Amino acid sequence: MAESAAGKPVLAVDLGGTKIVTALITPHGKLLSREYSPTLAEEGVEPVIRRILTTATTLVKDADLPYSSLSAIAIAVAGAIDSEKGIVTASPNLPGWRDIPLKDEIQLSTGVTTFVINDATAAALGEHRFGAGRGVDNLIYLTVSTGIGGGIIIAGKLYSGSSGSAGELGHMTIDVNGPRCACGNIGCLEVLASGKAVAREAQRLIAQGTKTAILEIAEGDAQFVTAQTVATAANKGDAAALSIINKAATYLGVGMVNLVNIFNPEMIIVGGGMGKMGEMLLKPARKVVAERAFQFPASVVRIVSSELGDNAGVFGAVAFVVDTHGPL
Ligand SMILES: [Zn+2]
Repeated sequence: MAESAAGKPVLAVDLGGTKIVTALITPHGKLLSREYSPTLAEEGVEPVIRRILTTATTLVKDADLPYSSLSAIAIAVAGAIDSEKGIVTASPNLPGWRDIPLKDEIQLSTGVTTFVINDATAAALGEHRFGAGRGVDNLIYLTVSTGIGGGIIIAGKLYSGSSGSAGELGHMTIDVNGPRCACGNIGCLEVLASGKAVAREAQRLIAQGTKTAILEIAEGDAQFVTAQTVATAANKGDAAALSIINKAATYLGVGMVNLVNIFNPEMIIVGGGMGKMGEMLLKPARKVVAERAFQFPASVVRIVSSELGDNAGVFGAVAFVVDTHGPL
């Protein structure tokens, strides 16, 4: 590619169940501009695609960069993706998204080469290339949010498995006698340690009459209890909230024990909404790893918070383009 073309920005989009992050980022990871918009997924597929295009158009106009000056568009989506064809095959958080040819639709509207990737995979790549995992060759990224997802980097490369679906870290079995997970299996990490699990446990304790500030923070309605509500109560020293988070963190730690024993990673990076709890979540998880994992791999692994936070997906989408496309 001509020297003048080096560094042409990528328009990166992270399409989640509740919000869309759109950003212009150079291939070297310089953030030029960024916009957040609500997904409003319940409106259906086409309105969401239109919203992506509207935000994208505004962003390139404001930056005075016509679509033709972009090297690519890269979209990270919360769902199962056929990355080769750029199709969103299914998404539990985006109602109606089944076999949607997102790559073709965006390319047709913009004339720019478009890539589609799973959001947790993208976030793993983002942290590896531009975040907490810079320079680390073997790492595991765990996104702990409404659900739990992740990505595996081995020898500096994303491990995607024989048919591209590797990295479903939220669906390793933790408790064979545990509750049923949305995936159909029993006792997955996700059903025990996700944001949804934390909210559900809080609602259970409230229904039992446990004394806690959680209900008050949720304005007296147990329906409004989220992991965020529980975290707020825990920060105020609420005993019930602290015990709920400690329980989720213990399960998370057990999941990490499996990851440490299997992969011997140098680093486990924890991101996602629950990841923002930081040490409140990581400290008990580290303790479980120290107690239960094989001593040698446990002694080398660093368990850390995400550096890029909400931007991990867009940065990772850029890393994916660079990896797939070659130097831009
Ligand atoms: Zn599951």
